[in-house]
Amino acid sequence: MQWAHLRESLRTVVGSEGLIEPYEARKVYECDGYTLERAVPELVVLPASTAEMCAVVRLLHRAGVPFVPRGAGTGLSGGCLPLEAPVMIGTSRMRRILEIDSLNRRVMVEAGVANLEVTRAVTEFGLHYAPDPSSQAACSIGGNIAENSGGPHTLKYGVTTNHVLGLELVLPDGEAVWLGGWVDDVPGYDLRGFVIGSEGTCGIVTRAILRLLRNPEAWQTILAVFPSVAAATSAVSAVIAAGVVPAALELMDRLIVQAVEQAYHFGFPADAGAVLIAEVDGHSAAVQAEAEAVKKLCLDAGATEIRSAATERERAELWKSRKRAFGAVGRLAPNYCTQDGVVPRTCLPEILQRIVAIAERYRLRVGNVFHAGDGNIHPILLFDERDPQEVRRVLEAGREILAACVELGGSITGEHGVGVEKIAEMPLLFTPQDLIVMQALRQVFDPEQRSNPGKMFPSPGGCVEVARPRRQVPV
Ligand SMILES: Cc1cc2nc3c(=O)[nH]c(=O)nc-3n(C[C@H](O)[C@H](O)[C@H](O)COP(=O)(O)OP(=O)(O)OC[C@H]3O[C@@H](n4cnc5c(N)ncnc54)[C@H](O)[C@@H]3O)c2cc1C
Repeated sequence: MQWAHLRESLRTVVGSEGLIEPYEARKVYECDGYTLERAVPELVVLPASTAEMCAVVRLLHRAGVPFVPRGAGTGLSGGCLPLEAPVMIGTSRMRRILEIDSLNRRVMVEAGVANLEVTRAVTEFGLHYAPDPSSQAACSIGGNIAENSGGPHTLKYGVTTNHVLGLELVLPDGEAVWLGGWVDDVPGYDLRGFVIGSEGTCGIVTRAILRLLRNPEAWQTILAVFPSVAAATSAVSAVIAAGVVPAALELMDRLIVQAVEQAYHFGFPADAGAVLIAEVDGHSAAVQAEAEAVKKLCLDAGATEIRSAATERERAELWKSRKRAFGAVGRLAPNYCTQDGVVPRTCLPEILQRIVAIAERYRLRVGNVFHAGDGNIHPILLFDERDPQEVRRVLEAGREILAACVELGGSITGEHGVGVEKIAEMPLLFTPQDLIVMQALRQVFDPEQRSNPGKMFPSPGGCVEVARPRRQVPV
């Protein structure tokens, strides 16, 4: 099919409001939160329903054109970069909450609904959707499913896959299928689980049935200031060793605390080495006891100041420092790259020391803000993209940090996915045979590899370069 003909056929399906054609408007879609690689899509298509999505994907199938799914574009690994796919399909016009079943604690939503909107929609029933990425005000449920996203509260409640009961997937030939459903357990292979975390390589998720949780009867949020990151991480280990499972355990190091303080004036001491935010929730009696235990363990580990919140307003105030951390980092350097690795929790002090050593060797400034309870680190590497040498050093340092995570028994990503950023690191974790098996499984859904090509898997030579060839649009 001719490109011009394809474009007009797509317009017939989604209307002019569902097609983004001018270069300046498409440029907005050139990257996600990982800004080290960019590519402007040839065309952006925004279907407004599953039926439109099926029709769009069917047209691309007939024309043999690859596509890249996109939610809100907050991804941090270049997952929705249109490198080998000329057409981007966004879900931003699919934002309806379709059905709330408050008695069975379920909700069906379209894929473009922002994570936080789900909780807002069910608040009146005393319910919430547990996975809460720090980007939750913007990121979409479809993106969360593709990345199997976590968040501060997934330490206790689990990540996205634990809260998605079913999903509707538009396969790369345009057929819509449901995997899973309204009930907890469906016989047969867990294809729902396979698609969650597959980073858009199996097709496009259009609807999802999500599990809702009852809001906890009580909670307490504690913020502890430590003289060093080492002291804070030892408090994290002590809390877990004591048998307390907080809903959240979030840590920020000196550089981040300073940035947050300069930006928002929370009154953290100028010499604070780290800030730990812990939240416990559940039945009132247990919460009180657990909160006291957490405070004591923090003090034993060397905390110099403890603040606690008992009202919703105070709680929001304590969380603000963590949730605004990424925004505050913008004051430190023109650009930053957020890495995402995992280590066994007990290895946190070691990985943090290694990060400091790597940063010194590459002459880079690095701050750390992370989900400490999960051992999920987020070193933030500061740089100026106008300095190509510095960009190269950031990429190299990032790779060394991930290799160190693997060496310590961890993984190259905790929640941000592989995308384009970490393709070269996949062989650190998987043998060539592992990768062949994974790709064979992917082909069950996408035999022609047209849904988000060039992501997750190394090319057969195993070598991945920053500049990748782009697939041509058929003319
Ligand atoms: C400030 C900030 C804080 C963050 N904090 C967290 C955090 O705490 N935890 C965490 O896990 N992540 C976090 N992230 C990363 C990011 O928000 C998540 O990965 C999120 O799930 C991406 O959702 P999105 O809608 O923006 O997806 P996008 O960035 O648009 O896409 C991400 C991937 O999903 C695919 N995709 C998108 N929609 C669909 C769909 N409907 N069907 C199939 N594939 C699809 C894309 O092709 C791409 O591969 C953070 C990001 C930022 C910028």
